[in-house]
Amino acid sequence: MAEIQYRLEQKRQILGEFPGPKSAALTQRRKAVVAAGVASSVPVYVADADGGVIVDVDGNSFIDLGSGIAVTSVGASDPAVVGAVKDQAGHFTHTCFMVTPYEGYIEVAEELARLTPGDHEKRTVLFNSGAEAVENAVKVARLATGRDAIVAFDHAYHGRTNLTMALTAKAMPYKANFGPFAPEIYRVPMSYPYREETEIKGEDAARRAISMIEKQIGADSVAAILIEPVQGEGGFIVPAEGFLPTLAAWAKENGVVFIADEVQSGFCRTGTWFASEHEGVVPDIITMAKGIGGGLPLSAITGRAELLDAVHPGGLGGTFGGNPVACAAALAAIGSMRTFDLNARAQRIEKIVMDRLGALAAEMGDGGIIGELRGRGAMLAVELVRPGTARTTKEPNAQATKAVAAACLQAGVVILTCGTYGNVVRLLPPLVISDELLKDGLDVLVEAIRANV
Ligand SMILES: *Cc1c(COP(=O)(O)O)cnc(C)c1O
Repeated sequence: MAEIQYRLEQKRQILGEFPGPKSAALTQRRKAVVAAGVASSVPVYVADADGGVIVDVDGNSFIDLGSGIAVTSVGASDPAVVGAVKDQAGHFTHTCFMVTPYEGYIEVAEELARLTPGDHEKRTVLFNSGAEAVENAVKVARLATGRDAIVAFDHAYHGRTNLTMALTAKAMPYKANFGPFAPEIYRVPMSYPYREETEIKGEDAARRAISMIEKQIGADSVAAILIEPVQGEGGFIVPAEGFLPTLAAWAKENGVVFIADEVQSGFCRTGTWFASEHEGVVPDIITMAKGIGGGLPLSAITGRAELLDAVHPGGLGGTFGGNPVACAAALAAIGSMRTFDLNARAQRIEKIVMDRLGALAAEMGDGGIIGELRGRGAMLAVELVRPGTARTTKEPNAQATKAVAAACLQAGVVILTCGTYGNVVRLLPPLVISDELLKDGLDVLVEAIRANV
């Protein structure tokens, strides 16, 4: 396997006051011109980023455990991606694939046909954002089935556009006061093993959802089941084994399109190309974005040829969808995923994190604040609860979660939080992060959790 080379020194270093004077000045300028509705979780401004580090305008070097929300899996300045972007931009930045097409778009579609689960004939359409991919997967499913209803799950996150807000579960901050929402969206219970009242097998959790679908919607009215194989914003929830295959089998029996939203979980993040593979699920349509383009905005839907080709010519597309620079970046990023075997790296990250945090959880025991440690590959989470409730009432501890993230940041580690109850610390390091840097970041996290009991 190829050795990963870094341009910037891979270190954690906070110089003097935090945030530094240059970041503080940018915060002031920002207030005068940037809308308050777009909030940043970290009050420093980026000057450079590479491998596992982000360097701010004051020269502070942070360990990146967020990858810009699971985007820069190959690093934020992977030489292969940078080279491909420069080369493509030097020829043409845009022509619009719907007007004068180009090869890069086709090459990305060929890669996605190879990489996504299943050996059936596939078709692909490219877009710009995850939300746009989800919207289009729904459009295709409705047209192809001639049905209206879309089934989504508790704790789901699918985006911020009107249709995807309707599909997203959480009101604050994503939906509150932004309605009215698109109709014909139905929500059913997820399998969330840690928070089930009593232990329930994955198959039974799926039957619970299916029974609700059959009673409240009717199988014949359902166009699609839309689900994240590992839920992202909702709390990095991994459904119980058997949940996804049972839903997929029911969908197949009932002519319902099974859409896996792998916008966050795709492209080596969970230690396989797609999270659906962990249980051998073959989605009818798969949505992709975040990690696909090495940091450039690109998204895609890939699905069964008969579904995608049911749409009339001109029915799908968009001005920027499959931008040639983004396509070049995606081909280079996918190349780096192969070159550096980033699936193996994600599995290695899982081992390092689970060993370290598992030891902390064991040490804290049921009296501590670690409710559950979970996830797959380099999509890992610590759910925090009030002291002593980990095995009883499991009271979410959003306060400690916030404090842990803030303490990590002060010490030079960028860490994200998530979860319906705001009580989940999530780890999404770039897959190219070195073991050493990751371990240093984990030491900081362990200290921060200890300090908040
Ligand atoms: C981030 C995300 C989206 C939305 O993607 P955007 O690019 O932000 O529109 C959709 N689905 C999942 C699972 C996501 O994590």
